[in-house]
Formats: sequence, C-alpha cells, structure tokens
Amino acid sequence: MLSIHSRCWLCRQPLCLSRHGICSYCLRHLPAKPLCCPCCGLPAGDAAHPCGRCLQRPPPWQALVFVGDYVAPLRQLIKKFKFQHAPELAPLLARLILLNWQRAHREQYLNRPDMILAVPLQAKRCWRRGYNQSDLLARPLAHWLGCDYRPAALRRVRKTAPQQRLPARMRRRNLRGAFRCHEPLAGRHVALLDDVVTTGSTVAEISRLLLRQGAASIQIWCVCRTL
Ligand SMILES: [Zn+2]
Ligand SMILES: [Zn+2]
Repeated sequence: MLSIHSRCWLCRQPLCLSRHGICSYCLRHLPAKPLCCPCCGLPAGDAAHPCGRCLQRPPPWQALVFVGDYVAPLRQLIKKFKFQHAPELAPLLARLILLNWQRAHREQYLNRPDMILAVPLQAKRCWRRGYNQSDLLARPLAHWLGCDYRPAALRRVRKTAPQQRLPARMRRRNLRGAFRCHEPLAGRHVALLDDVVTTGSTVAEISRLLLRQGAASIQIWCVCRTL
C-alpha cells in the first residue's frame, strides 16, 4: 500500500519521485501563465521588461516570481495547505516556486538572493494553525538554493485588518509600522516569501522596511499572484 505522500497530490497516480509531490503530467498541465510583467507580475504585453505601471511607479521590489493565478488547481492546494492542516504540501509548493525562479534566473538573468525571509503571520493565527505557511515554503527553498534563512528576522508587531476588505487608500495606513525586522540587511539580496499575493500591499510594506534596513534588492516569491 502506497502512502499518501507517494501519490500525485492532483491526480493520485503513484509517483516515481515521491518528494516531487506532483506527477510530470500534472506539472505540465498546470494552467499556463499569461505574459506577465517581470516586476509586478500582472498581465502585460511583454514578459522581458517592466510594464508601463511599473515604469511610472516602480514597486519597492525588483521582481515578482510566482507559479500562477489563484485558480484551480493551485487554489485548492493552497487552501488545503493553509486551512486543512496539510503542512506536508510545503515541499511541492516550494518546488513549484523554485522552478519558476529558475526560469526567471535563466531567461531574465534574475540574480540569486543570498537571504530568504518569510512574511510573518499574526501570532494568534500562527498559533491556531500550528505553523506559518510562508515559513514552511522558505525552509526548503533556502536549503536548495544555499541561501540564509532567518525565521525570526521579521515580526508582526501589531494586529492589522485583512487587507482585501479595505479600500486601496486605507491599505498602506493599515500596515504602517505593523512589521519589524531584527536583522541587519546591509548589502543583502533578499527574497521575501508569501503564499498568495493579492493587492501586494503587505509585501510592499515589508519591502520598504527591508530597504530602510539596508537591503540591496528584494524579490517577491509566492505561489499565487491574483491576476
Ligand atoms: Zn498527477
Ligand atoms: Zn509591472
């Protein structure tokens, strides 16, 4: 009897390489990404250069690496990962991020970060879930890429309202001063991990904080970018 871990998470076929978590057929058939701006990750006419929005108002990060839109089957995998206590999905989701980063590294010469940080959860939510999903994604990526990972470097120091429910102009105010970074970052190239980037305001707020701490560049890595 095969354990659940040696079957593809999507089609349940037995896997040759159980650590991959997904079979090569399902991997090839994940929904294709449209052409996306390498900087903000939103659909654009050209995947090699920043879009007009990013040229006009550059985000505080250099590049956004993601696997796909927040739709099936990634959406179901993330929901299972976060809300149905399936931390064992982390290596699969982290590997999907790795494959997308490797492509950007090859095709757009995106630099290799030397440090990975994870977007922190509110303490109560982390305690209820038993783990921070971004932390579980950061660990294997740091291992595979030989980057530093400091789980305690970023902290959420106060509660914030869920960003999605706020109008755009309130989002930045809601997050102001919500995070602290306890790590000197002078000259470091940082990848900031999140599971889903929706409005981008959380990763933008943390990116500004990391830049103030001296970070040389920031990449945002996530499983899903809502398009
Ligand atoms: Zn499969
Ligand atoms: Zn853009």
